[in-house]
Amino acid sequence: MLAHPSQAVIIGGGICGITAALALKKVGIPVVVYELRSGPATAGGAVNLTPVALRYLDHVGALEEIYRRGSRTKEVTIFSIPKAKRLGGYKFKADITGYPAVRATRHDLLQSLLYASAKENITIHYSAKLTSVSEDEDSITATFADGRKASGAMLLGCDGIYSATRLKYVDPSRKPEYTGTVAAGGVLKTATLKSPVHFEDACVNLSEHGFLVTAYCNKDRSNMYVALSLDKQANSHDGWDMTPEEAEATKQYMIEKYADVKTPVIKEIIQQWEDQFYWPVHELKGSGVWSKGRALLLGDACHAMPPNGESAGFCLEDAVLLATVFGKRGAKDLQAVFQEYIAIRRPEIDSARIETQSRWKSAQFMTPWQFRLRQAIIPWYLWWTESKRDALFSKDVRNSVV
Ligand SMILES: Cc1cc2nc3c(=O)[nH]c(=O)nc-3n(C[C@H](O)[C@H](O)[C@H](O)COP(=O)(O)OP(=O)(O)OC[C@H]3O[C@@H](n4cnc5c(N)ncnc54)[C@H](O)[C@@H]3O)c2cc1C
Repeated sequence: MLAHPSQAVIIGGGICGITAALALKKVGIPVVVYELRSGPATAGGAVNLTPVALRYLDHVGALEEIYRRGSRTKEVTIFSIPKAKRLGGYKFKADITGYPAVRATRHDLLQSLLYASAKENITIHYSAKLTSVSEDEDSITATFADGRKASGAMLLGCDGIYSATRLKYVDPSRKPEYTGTVAAGGVLKTATLKSPVHFEDACVNLSEHGFLVTAYCNKDRSNMYVALSLDKQANSHDGWDMTPEEAEATKQYMIEKYADVKTPVIKEIIQQWEDQFYWPVHELKGSGVWSKGRALLLGDACHAMPPNGESAGFCLEDAVLLATVFGKRGAKDLQAVFQEYIAIRRPEIDSARIETQSRWKSAQFMTPWQFRLRQAIIPWYLWWTESKRDALFSKDVRNSVV
């Protein structure tokens, strides 16, 4: 058994788990990470890292590495496919918020965090599948599928939407629900495009058939991430690489839906994207139970939401906030720290979840009339909410603990 009296046992070596390890180590808490997979791995495509996410990557020492890998993003353009016109944009103003935004693959985000964790000598045990959790008065113990055990003062469940920490210990009744939508993603070599690209950094292309995301996702902009949502039955909860038949069927679906596209580069993108994958979108509904005894859930294990462009930032923010509370209060009274963390975090997450769920529903398929109305509203909505977004992206959760 691996044991350390004050150690945090972190389950999950993904974005949240590695960030939690880095942030806790900064405030003097010993950490050890246990990861299910046999090595670093992330499925899925590219994430948008807002100024909030970059602030916390800076805090844990991973900012330079993500700048080295990702594509700087000043704006996510909102574009109408039928009108062939920019409706407005979500701006990331580094002069106000302190940071720009970056679009990077989930792989590059994890690699940036692992780069920082290697510098900090953080131990990550791979091929460690959590199967059960038990605790007594002084410690909590994780047991893994191969019989290994790890004990510590606390256990942090950073093991994603299908969290074993949640399902086997903290809140077994809270199961992920399917949203009815499969996200399809892929990458395109930008050198293959002949027509001029209709956006600067990243773009949400809207039509009554839903959205099509197109965004540069690496530093030299040689790769463009492409994603859209499909109303489709999913037989698996995990994502998977499309078979050649699935890739062809998805391409045909898009060619049909976007037959009247007036922007030539969109037609080229549809024809030429590669390495496609499907990702059935699941979510955790309701607020849920976040902690039990010495165990606490963080990241998607606690609040997985449909895509909103900010979920990775929420995971980083959870980790940094928890470490900040530990830094200010010390680690002696674990329950007081968990309760203070939850009291600050739950209202923020609840309101983000409600907004995300309504945004996700309204971004799906709509009637031509609904879409026309939406196009008319979007420029006003973006203008009306701009200062709210500036304030949101300027927020530093480290200031919430007084
Ligand atoms: C295709 C795709 C696109 C996305 N786009 C965006 C975006 O644009 N912007 C954004 O902000 N967010 C985006 N997200 C969401 C974001 O990536 C997630 O919110 C984030 O990855 C969650 O991090 P996490 O560490 O909590 O969970 P995960 O990344 O799921 O990591 C959990 C880790 O726990 C491990 N694990 C699971 N079970 C066990 C077990 N029993 N024992 C030990 N380890 C275990 C897993 O192997 C994994 O490594 C996207 C997600 C996907 C899949």
